[in-house]
Amino acid sequence: MTPRKPIVGGNWKMNLHRAQAVDLAKSLVDRVNSNEDVEVILFPPFPYLEAVGKVLRDASSPIRLGAQDFYHQPNGAYTGEVSISMLADLGVTNVLVGHSERRHVIGENDVLLNQKVLAGLKAGMEVMLCVGEKLEQREANQTDDINAGQTRYGLAGVDPKDMARVSIAYEPVWAIGTGKTATAADAQNAHVAIREVVARQFSTDIAQHVRILYGGSVKGSNAPELFAQSDIDGGLIGGAALKADDFMAIIDAATNSVSA
Ligand code: PEP
Repeated sequence: MTPRKPIVGGNWKMNLHRAQAVDLAKSLVDRVNSNEDVEVILFPPFPYLEAVGKVLRDASSPIRLGAQDFYHQPNGAYTGEVSISMLADLGVTNVLVGHSERRHVIGENDVLLNQKVLAGLKAGMEVMLCVGEKLEQREANQTDDINAGQTRYGLAGVDPKDMARVSIAYEPVWAIGTGKTATAADAQNAHVAIREVVARQFSTDIAQHVRILYGGSVKGSNAPELFAQSDIDGGLIGGAALKADDFMAIIDAATNSVSA
């Protein structure tokens, strides 16, 4: 089996204010500093990227700075949008694309999300593409089809050599922020199916290397079982990323899954 370094991402969404964001980042840099088995990424809201980035930089922390979204055009008349080079200026190295709240609340479609993936990679970012089915799709047995479609569209036209900078977060929409989690076995099956899509679209080797994270009400209590699955390479965390102790418990579970 190809060893894949797990990723634990903290998606703070539209939560926290400046002082809380800085405090949370400070407590994490104190505790994550020596962790080399797991890649940790924080995705603060845009207005606090600079402040959180400064905390990470001042501590020479291995924690990466990520943005929850961006616009794919380099500059111009796009009121309210933020470009990748603006994010790069702030020290951002990682970006999310297609979080289910962007797809289903804000209304972003696969065409736009593919443009964002391509633009993010072209700019040298590490791109995390989020995919996942809604409850009614799951109930209609469409989970694998939805994931396959979102993965294929999202990664269309990606240069195979850029796939080293791509990860995929499988986040069943019905499990996000609801307290409901996919069973470890269901999540593992969905991850295997997504990996097969990547193998068909690119190559078996690329599929074996791509990190596929699970997201959806991950907590310290369920993370060990989820991360013990052979195709689950860490997690994208929402609610439990807002408290240092809760987030650390998940990072620890990912670290233990490597040494297990
Ligand atoms: C998320 O924000 O991607 C997420 C999975 O949220 P939560 O952990 O709160 O379900």
